[in-house]
Amino acid sequence: MANIRLTAQLDELARLDLLRERRVLEGPQGPRVVIDGRELLAFCSNDYLGLANHPRINAAAIEAVRRFGVGAGASPLVTGHNLLHRNVEEELAAFTGLPRALLFPSGYQANIGAVTSLVGRGDAVFSDELNHASLIDGMRLSRAEVERYAHRDMDALEKSLAASGAKLKLVATDSVFSMDGDIAPLPQILALCERHDAWLLVDDAHGFGVLGANGRGALEHFGLDSPRIVYMGTLGKAAGVSGAFVAGQEEVVETLLQRARTYMFSTAAPALLAAAVGESLAVMRDEGWRRTHLAALIAALKAGLAGSAARLAPSDTAIQPLIVGANAAALARAESLRARGILVPPIRPPTVPEGSARLRISLSAAHSIEDVRQLVQGLRNEPASSAAA
Ligand SMILES: *Cc1c(COP(=O)(O)O)cnc(C)c1O
Repeated sequence: MANIRLTAQLDELARLDLLRERRVLEGPQGPRVVIDGRELLAFCSNDYLGLANHPRINAAAIEAVRRFGVGAGASPLVTGHNLLHRNVEEELAAFTGLPRALLFPSGYQANIGAVTSLVGRGDAVFSDELNHASLIDGMRLSRAEVERYAHRDMDALEKSLAASGAKLKLVATDSVFSMDGDIAPLPQILALCERHDAWLLVDDAHGFGVLGANGRGALEHFGLDSPRIVYMGTLGKAAGVSGAFVAGQEEVVETLLQRARTYMFSTAAPALLAAAVGESLAVMRDEGWRRTHLAALIAALKAGLAGSAARLAPSDTAIQPLIVGANAAALARAESLRARGILVPPIRPPTVPEGSARLRISLSAAHSIEDVRQLVQGLRNEPASSAAA
């Protein structure tokens, strides 16, 4: 029977310490979360600016429900697209400084839609080996030839671009790598795209809202502007809401609107999300201290662990991984922190390469310096009570 096979596969996952379990939060996302009635200091979310439960953004969502109801009711290409969706697309284009933006219900759909609309059979996609699963799945679905290059290796990328005879070339990369926190060398990648006449798809899921003087993301951070760039930003991470967008040249965005199956064949995001995103952009502008504070927290964590046995991987972003190695060891580290009231997620394959299981520490502007001190103490394995001394 088929279910015997499924049970055997699940048993195998358990044997490899790869079984996942969902924790049930009994309240909102934030620096402290309640699980099983117990409050834990959490370093787990992608809510980098602490906007997931912001009063202004919550109020905008509630007001939108009053005016537009809860459900969008249809695909955007039928009647699911309303005033609030249109407004937020204009605001996203203005915020990123790109000609036009298209709102998607999720980043997963945005990436699959973008890759499959831009390339097909006979074309080639060049992909950093640590790219996000949604880019990888988009490449598979596109039927384009996929050329993986070693992580951030510009020589490897150049060689493979030069060797390719594809009709159309697309380089796809995360800007900030989601499980490592390091940043792709986008200026060099763009230069290679120019030399080899390729498009550049930048997945700025972890840069949008955080990188750049105004939080406009990786393009602002590096001062990049090119018609070759197709930009994807997510709205469920630093923006604190849900959904994503693709922005770029008019004809690129129009192509996605006409061709992306993940756009056409999916119900539009509720208007309340569009309204919440619009308010989130306003809060990002008004509360620039959030980015400054986040930078101070990152510096405090690195300084706190300097010289200790707990060695962080090199990263200047809010994603600060502590690579442990074995799956069981990552689970044990996370469990011992949890016993001290600190929640840090253990990340295992296939999310990260075999043998590189890690604690993925993520910081949020909603954390205080004291919160980070507590984390440092937990990681240094000092008794938590010494805080009082
Ligand atoms: C989270 C993430 C996505 C997917 O975005 P969702 O809106 O969560 O579906 C895409 N790319 C990267 C790099 C991500 O981290």
